[in-house]
Amino acid sequence: MEFIIIVALVTAVLLLHRPLSALFNKLYISRQQHKFIECETFYHSVVSKYIRYYNRLPLEDQRKFLFRTFLFRKTRRFHYLEVKESAEMPILISAVAIQLTFGLDKFMLNYFNDIFVLKDDYHYGFYSRPFMGHVDQSGIYLSWDNFIKGITGQTPNCNVGLHEMGHALAYVTFITETEEDKHFKKEFKNFSKVARPIFATMQEGKRNLLGEYAAVNYHEFWAVSVETFFENPVCLKHELPELYQAMVSLLRQDPLQMRSGSGKTTFIFKSPRQEEGFKLNA
Ligand SMILES: [Zn+2]
Repeated sequence: MEFIIIVALVTAVLLLHRPLSALFNKLYISRQQHKFIECETFYHSVVSKYIRYYNRLPLEDQRKFLFRTFLFRKTRRFHYLEVKESAEMPILISAVAIQLTFGLDKFMLNYFNDIFVLKDDYHYGFYSRPFMGHVDQSGIYLSWDNFIKGITGQTPNCNVGLHEMGHALAYVTFITETEEDKHFKKEFKNFSKVARPIFATMQEGKRNLLGEYAAVNYHEFWAVSVETFFENPVCLKHELPELYQAMVSLLRQDPLQMRSGSGKTTFIFKSPRQEEGFKLNA
């Protein structure tokens, strides 16, 4: 009899796990949306001041962008190392993560609970050259002065925030496998079919728009491709059109379509499930 009860309980837990977690998620999102309304104006004022990408989004997508930014920010622990904390910092760092993942279903970069903000270039490990940012098992590290220069376009092709979030997205997808976006993981194989040969020619000494640092290893090639895709899409599409198109398919967004000012949605291949996503999963 006991055995039957245990089997029945295990079966019930297995059967109810998915609908119950979906219900809890729905309740959680609903509660967070109420909290978000209270600070939406402030988020908008901060993000619209610095993030050009956000200002090019249609109104409906701007709300979705801010809500995702809000959810990302409130689930992180931000640590400030020798830099004066401001209310803008965690919002802008979260916004850059959302910019990268805006076309994907999964955007929380779960695993990275801690984000470290440093004042400027810093030394890390045994490397002799200074770092602008890095990602390791302990968290995401960003130098604030470089971060600001990147989002305000003061450093052509360079956006350290996007670069490190690119590493973080690859990390949670392929290393910790803590937040796998099904589309991203599957499409990355197609991206690599295009990207690997370009990377190989760079390792042989050929130079292109991506610059020398992208030839260091394939991780850096990916992170630099992310930066260039958002910061210099016109030149990337002109010089490496197949790579540009592979990025569009992988991230499910096209920065050049946004620039047209057509007012259309920035996403491609947008499925009905994604439309629901904002209501249920943000
Ligand atoms: Zn890197």
